[in-house]
Amino acid sequence: MQSHASFSDVSELQLSVHGPVFTPADPGFAPEVAAFNLSTQHQPDLAFGALDAEDVSAAVRWAAERGMPVSVQSTGHGATNAIEGGLLISTRRMLELSIDPIEKTARVGAGVRWKAVVDLAATFGLMGLCGSTTDVGVVGYTLGGGLPILGRKYGFASDHVIAFELVTADGTQRRVTKDENPELFYLLRGGKGNLGIVTAMEFHLFPADDLYAGGLYFDGGYAPEVLRAFREWVPSLPVEASASMAFLRLPEMEMIPEPLRGKFVIHLRYAYQGDPATASEVLEPMRTCAPFMMDATGPLSPTQFDTIHQDPDQPVPVREHGFLLDRLDEQTEDALLRHFGPGVDSPVLLAELRLLGGALAKSADGEDIVGGRDAAFSFFMGAIAVPPVLDILPTVFNSVHEDLRPAANAGTFVNLHGHFVDAEDRERPWLPGARERLRKAKAELDPKNMFSFGHVVGLPVIDQTVLLQDVVSTGGDAVLNS
Ligand SMILES: Cc1cc2nc3c(=O)[nH]c(=O)nc-3n(C[C@H](O)[C@H](O)[C@H](O)COP(=O)(O)OP(=O)(O)OC[C@H]3O[C@@H](n4cnc5c(N)ncnc54)[C@H](O)[C@@H]3O)c2cc1C
Repeated sequence: MQSHASFSDVSELQLSVHGPVFTPADPGFAPEVAAFNLSTQHQPDLAFGALDAEDVSAAVRWAAERGMPVSVQSTGHGATNAIEGGLLISTRRMLELSIDPIEKTARVGAGVRWKAVVDLAATFGLMGLCGSTTDVGVVGYTLGGGLPILGRKYGFASDHVIAFELVTADGTQRRVTKDENPELFYLLRGGKGNLGIVTAMEFHLFPADDLYAGGLYFDGGYAPEVLRAFREWVPSLPVEASASMAFLRLPEMEMIPEPLRGKFVIHLRYAYQGDPATASEVLEPMRTCAPFMMDATGPLSPTQFDTIHQDPDQPVPVREHGFLLDRLDEQTEDALLRHFGPGVDSPVLLAELRLLGGALAKSADGEDIVGGRDAAFSFFMGAIAVPPVLDILPTVFNSVHEDLRPAANAGTFVNLHGHFVDAEDRERPWLPGARERLRKAKAELDPKNMFSFGHVVGLPVIDQTVLLQDVVSTGGDAVLNS
């Protein structure tokens, strides 16, 4: 797509904000728009590094006056589909972070990653409800619901939000709580970036004592035994326990520890909060279901959450596909082994089943649009997205999805939905009722569909070419970018 912005328009933006503005010709542009997922190359017309809510508001107003689409990025962990055209607002400089240890609450700016919260909260003996890696942004994660390590005990991260500060498509800053703008509060918890840019968020923290967690690693040859044991074990788990199981085909890369490098392994992840002896006892059936290569479970400091899943901490090119399962029965087990079991040559690096249920099954006050509450498992696949494997991944993912369809849930969990393939797939994280409420709110707050990137419900997308050409013709200045 060819698009243009005039010198005077860009100068006007620069004069109305404090953070840096980058055109594609600027050396700072590429690092500003780079995503954690290296297979996604964002190509906005302009990038802007916001410093605070005023900056976000001014930039959104500037874009609104020109009918320009706006996208937002913090860490780029959720960059499943590329952003093309428009203004990308980067929040990575919005690093406000404070904790009230008495009230057990935190306030974060839009660019704060979980690691910063986890480290600071731990100094007060507290923890936030982070997921499998603390490298993701707190706000982007929570807007998608936020499936935490200890989700079965505490529910989704979004269940514990006190307030969002939101900039809507007209540049207005709104405080959104249960009592102020209640419909927005309902829709932001699970609604992702549909309705505007969240500039700050306040939420509850929890005592971080008595954590017991880690992973058991089995040779992939034992996949049938471990999967069967997992299926029989999970119904007995108390809500204090969370568990997931991954088929891992680990590449020959230095970042992988030697005993696991280049191997096919089964990784059983476990986390428990409560009495350590009980925590260990609850895990016993999995320890004895097959000979394990490594037992890395034990008492866990709240700053060590990343050691449970061992997610990559460096940017990687990946293609992801996720959905929800209502059950794990023998048929599902057979299908999983057909696709990922011993002797199968699969390009899928990671295929994981995360147990849901417990407090995840119900929102704290019963009102939000988070996906997965009625599902039994989240199922997620990730593969290194480089040619020639990249070309076959859609077929591979489809084939797995089809085989698991008898047990699949109608919705998806937006944070782990992965790459969307078309408009229908893009809004699949929301069931029809939620979709309609999102559309209604969007039609009121964002009638021109400025926020039309990433997982959003379908409103007509702004015709960027026409509008950006209008900018040029009305600006009357030299064209900056083409
Ligand atoms: C290795 C890995 C592990 C993960 N583990 C988990 C997990 O355990 N549980 C879980 O729930 N998710 C998990 N995720 C998914 C992750 O939570 C989502 O990708 C989330 O969107 C990341 O947010 P971000 O801001 O870091 O990413 P970004 O790519 O910067 O943002 C992704 C999207 O979030 C929205 N967004 C971000 N910031 C704002 C804002 N300020 N205002 C409005 N919208 C915004 C936008 O729609 C944006 O496109 C994982 C992802 C990865 C890569």
